[in-house]
Amino acid sequence: MRVVIVGNGPAGVEAARLLSREHEVVLVEKETVSHYSKPMLSHFIAGLVEEKRLFPYSPEWYERNGINLLLGTEARRVDTSKKILNAGGGELPYDVLILATGARPRLPPVEGKERFLTLRTFEDAERIKKLLDTEGEMIVVGGGFIGLELAGNLAKRGYKVTVVEKEKGVLGLDEELTGRIVNVLREAGVEVLLGTSVLKVTEDTLLTDRGELKGRLKVCAIGIEPEVSLAKASGIETRRGIVVNRRFETSAKDVYAIGDCAEYNGIICGTAKAAMEHAKVLVNILNGIPDRYLFERRSSIFKFGDFPIAIVGVPRGRGVWLDRETKAFYDGEDVVGVVVLEDMKKAQEWVHHFLEAPPPPEEPPPNPPDPPR
Ligand SMILES: Cc1cc2nc3c(=O)[nH]c(=O)nc-3n(C[C@H](O)[C@H](O)[C@H](O)COP(=O)(O)OP(=O)(O)OC[C@H]3O[C@@H](n4cnc5c(N)ncnc54)[C@H](O)[C@@H]3O)c2cc1C
Repeated sequence: MRVVIVGNGPAGVEAARLLSREHEVVLVEKETVSHYSKPMLSHFIAGLVEEKRLFPYSPEWYERNGINLLLGTEARRVDTSKKILNAGGGELPYDVLILATGARPRLPPVEGKERFLTLRTFEDAERIKKLLDTEGEMIVVGGGFIGLELAGNLAKRGYKVTVVEKEKGVLGLDEELTGRIVNVLREAGVEVLLGTSVLKVTEDTLLTDRGELKGRLKVCAIGIEPEVSLAKASGIETRRGIVVNRRFETSAKDVYAIGDCAEYNGIICGTAKAAMEHAKVLVNILNGIPDRYLFERRSSIFKFGDFPIAIVGVPRGRGVWLDRETKAFYDGEDVVGVVVLEDMKKAQEWVHHFLEAPPPPEEPPPNPPDPPR
């Protein structure tokens, strides 16, 4: 079988690695650099790791694994009836096409937003690192995991960092958990301003509804927009992301979507951990092993400076502390989410607990219906 994959991020590369054992694999990537670790980008900016540690796979690795990697090649359209991908001016026929196009950073609709830098690619990281060397300080807008990782790592190296978050909570968590996380960051030297909205960005300042902050280097990390332009241009169903079911099928026959670009029932997973899990499940399916992904039970682990935190399932509803590190969230009698601070061994036990619980119905109606085949 000839599998064409678009996107050399964790979803695409993991799918390529596993599929190349049995199938012909072509991997199309518009960037000119090879796969790198996005979770390590803030460590690189802070000077905690060297550049070479970001790049786990050499060109020889792709060759050895029989993966035909086409860098600097943008996929522009899929002819889903003829099963051909138009990419880099050429035509790539496929038996199976996997869209792993990832996401791009979101910007707030405020005056001067083009003055923000964003952090998604290695090129972004290089640019931010260079400016940080000159400025020595940074304002980070957004209290999601990317903003907090960046702030934690920079503070670890003694840089002055201010985090500005519009909501009263970070990571979409409640007041108590936010308090625990923010205390750790403040102790590490990060200034955290919650409930503060950005109004305007100038060259030297950030104007907020709580006053003006001085700073030339301003990084915006308020979230992602799934990269759906290829799917859209090809008539494949999209909402915020590319619509998939639990088996990652899209509305087009033999076209699948995994990673940050995929949307199931309104859920965009948005983490490297989930992207790699998607790839594993899809490879099982393509190899004839029945499998599906339980989006509601996804888990993620982050580290803000030296402070690890795990979010398992969906931490909404009635929250109860089970011990000093663990807060569980209930829907009626059922635990639907757990947040574990610091103790990652305990977090792993919860991940297993969630995965072993009885699975939900095959495809909960009505959203999304199984795409037409
Ligand atoms: C700074 C930072 C820190 C993070 N930290 C963590 C963390 O600690 N833990 C965690 O689990 N996750 C973390 N993440 C999130 C994680 O990196 C993403 O969820 C993950 O990269 C998604 O993988 P993906 O393969 O779906 O997409 P991506 O990694 O975005 O890869 C998609 C690839 O597709 C390519 N592409 C898109 N369109 C086309 C096209 N038309 N033609 C050709 N190529 C195309 C893009 O160039 C890109 O290389 C972090 C992300 C960032 C930016």
